[in-house]
Amino acid sequence: MSDENKSIHEFDFNLICEYFSSVERQGPGSPEVTIKALSFIDGLTEKSRIADIGCGTGGQTMVLAQNAPGRITGVDLFPAFVDRFNANAARLNLQDRVKGITGSMDSLPFQDAELDLIWSEGAIYNIGFERGLSEWGRFLKPGGCIAVTEVSWFTDERPDEIQAFWRDAYPGINTIPAKVAQMQKAGYVPVATFILPENCWTEHFYAPQVAAQEAFLKKHAGNKAAGEFISNQRHETQLYNKYKAYYGYVFYIGKKT
Ligand code: SAH
Repeated sequence: MSDENKSIHEFDFNLICEYFSSVERQGPGSPEVTIKALSFIDGLTEKSRIADIGCGTGGQTMVLAQNAPGRITGVDLFPAFVDRFNANAARLNLQDRVKGITGSMDSLPFQDAELDLIWSEGAIYNIGFERGLSEWGRFLKPGGCIAVTEVSWFTDERPDEIQAFWRDAYPGINTIPAKVAQMQKAGYVPVATFILPENCWTEHFYAPQVAAQEAFLKKHAGNKAAGEFISNQRHETQLYNKYKAYYGYVFYIGKKT
């Protein structure tokens, strides 16, 4: 890659960070769904150690902290998200037991068997579901749990347009039974699986982006990369509305064997 391309890439990257810092969630989800997933996890105490990987600005982490005991470490690659995360924790007076740190999910700063629970909403795709499940397992105590959301096919057959979109965006997408089998193979007993309701996309993810898109385009008027980025976001929303019978996010909860 030439330096020129690199700098354009980095520029886009900053734009993406700026855009997603302006909304509460960086992926589909909702407080109700986080609480529902948490209902499948037993035995947490004030001594429990929890990690939220790819935590973003911490929308789901704060819900987790308000509904579970223990200390939570949020890890995200982007310092701007982590700053926002720590500001959110302080605003909710959770800073004594909720801390965000910058780091990568492919080299996590935890000890073996240190964690009681690993959480990750809308983020494991960054290293892939199978790889994330198998590499993160060693940080869990025996009997510890993992709860992650992952985009999944609902049906065996799909229209070409949506099949092609996901083949490009995330070739690791698969059906729910295939993902459950991957979880078992990675060393977990599959405890629960449920589909996130549509409002996790529409109300909690896409709706707040409408105003954010307007503001972003206004601020970056004339910037080609910014315009293309917003067009892509809007295209993704339209595809969701058209093809939501075929795919969505699924919570996968497992217990380390
Ligand atoms: N859990 C949040 C954010 C999901 S978006 C929510 O549900 O709202 C995916 C997140 O993964 C982003 O915040 C992105 O910065 C983070 N991410 C991407 N690659 C990463 C990596 N290698 N290590 C850690 N975090 C990463």
